Amino acid sequence: MLLKGIPVSPGYAIGQVLFLEDTVIDYSKKIIDHPEDEIKRYHQAIDKTKSQIEALIQSTKKMTHPESASILSAHLALLLDPEVKKAVEQKIKDESCNLIYAIKKVADDYIDQFNEIQDLYLKERVTDLIDVTERVIKNALNIALVDLSLITHEVILITKDLKPSQAAQMNKKYIKGFVTQQGGKTSHSAIIAKLMGIPAVVGVKNLFDHLIHGEKIILDGSKGEIHLDYDDVTEDKFRHLIEQNKSEKQSLKSFIKQKTKTKDNIEIELHANIGSNHDLPYVMDNDAEGIGLFRTELLFMDRLSMPTEDEQYEIYKDVLETMYPKPVTIRTIDIGGDKYLPYLHQEKEANPFLGKRAIRLCLENVEFFKVQLRALLRASVHGNLKIMFPMIATKDEFLDAKDIVLEVQEELIEKNIPYHIVDLGVMIEIPVAALTADDLANAVDFFSIGTNDLIQYTLAADRNHESLGYLYQPFNPGIIKLIGMVCEAAKDHKIPVSVCGEMASDLQAIPLLLGLGVNHLSMNPESILKARQLIKNFDSYDLNKLAKKAIKANDQYEVIDMIRALFDDYKK
Ligand code: PEP
Ligand code: MG
Repeated sequence: MLLKGIPVSPGYAIGQVLFLEDTVIDYSKKIIDHPEDEIKRYHQAIDKTKSQIEALIQSTKKMTHPESASILSAHLALLLDPEVKKAVEQKIKDESCNLIYAIKKVADDYIDQFNEIQDLYLKERVTDLIDVTERVIKNALNIALVDLSLITHEVILITKDLKPSQAAQMNKKYIKGFVTQQGGKTSHSAIIAKLMGIPAVVGVKNLFDHLIHGEKIILDGSKGEIHLDYDDVTEDKFRHLIEQNKSEKQSLKSFIKQKTKTKDNIEIELHANIGSNHDLPYVMDNDAEGIGLFRTELLFMDRLSMPTEDEQYEIYKDVLETMYPKPVTIRTIDIGGDKYLPYLHQEKEANPFLGKRAIRLCLENVEFFKVQLRALLRASVHGNLKIMFPMIATKDEFLDAKDIVLEVQEELIEKNIPYHIVDLGVMIEIPVAALTADDLANAVDFFSIGTNDLIQYTLAADRNHESLGYLYQPFNPGIIKLIGMVCEAAKDHKIPVSVCGEMASDLQAIPLLLGLGVNHLSMNPESILKARQLIKNFDSYDLNKLAKKAIKANDQYEVIDMIRALFDDYKK
């Protein structure tokens, strides 16, 4: 049997099915009749959590991860802290309230207190407290916890959607691939899979009806297929493909430490997209020439409170120092749309993708925005930083954001805190921004085209919708015209333009983007060496010719044919 979905991260995997269920927890207050039962449940949850953490400490010690073991020991200390325990029990008794509410409330109070104290050590404990609280709550609710770091056999994860925090725990040695029910080509779980080089298929309908826990399956991340009940011949075929992939990856290593150039020596910079400083090893392994997009909102998600200014500063500093002297473009938080922060208390919107997303939300919550800008400017002295604002529709939005940056700079001067003046750029991902790029270019230092959203908004098709994948049309002449306009405006005003959406790593799209005049491409690190290998085959004259023709094409099929013809010419 064959299940079909959207291929989002190429490659093949064979492994046992492991279900990862995600549960929405109800933290609301309920008045209960028997507080003593809740307290008993609390003690049971603590005992269970204690045994789990102790087992994790043992296993991390075996994996010689001393850092993880010490973090877990800190979790254990917090879990058993008599003051915390007393506070939860007292709350249940005083308010006759349910356990989940009491734990959450007590934890939130501590988090607020920790956040107010100017002590880095205590601030770091906030993350530990959030982790351990989540563990106790899930244990109290009997939600099975899968510790991805404890898996020691080859599995394929099956989940509704994958959270960034879950992805961060994945050990590539055992987690061979993943399949999700939700999501589309440019959803975050897809981006994470590509980043880690793990084959993945998303948007598989009725996924949970067909698979059995523990059953062996084959994942074809290149075609978007899942094979069940297959025969030995099929398994042999895929084992062969897996080996072939490994040797291709090995041979790409010869492109490390080479410049990225066209055949006629035009240099192009290939940058990496990241979501956290933990992604830096992938960036270094694949020899990126900079970071073109740091999606900072991933640092804010899956937490019970906002990362503090110091926490953010340390992360940005780490990225800037590691990459120095290469450029690092950090995007300010892009929340809203499909990304939600529980602690921001965002309003429910009828059309979240058309609502208060990204810069719109920041311009309305200036104090919230300033925390990130302060962290960024303080970190600017540690490397070559550029700041980019997402979802800019009008020049006024950019100018308002720039004014807030200037205010933060003045505040830093008053406090004698050093910072560097950095380039400020915008994402071009709303059609009107592309159409008015000529005017925007007067104000900004650089453009970065977000093709994921530009395509979503131009074709008016939700990028995460399982049934609208056919409207993700990077080769639609309408999209090509918009990208062409942005490149023209950038060239006229002598500012750089990059592409940081998924289109930048699409090997078919790269010749077209370069022909249109894009200066840098920013992509998942795994694609960089392949792109470098490809680009050296082409002459810039042919790429410009292709772009001029493609802009005039009638439909996407004509464009795809033109690109195929170019590839055929070069193979000759
Ligand atoms: C884009 O929209 O192309 C982009 C790079 O941003 P994100 O995928 O984070 O929305
Ligand atoms: Mg976007």
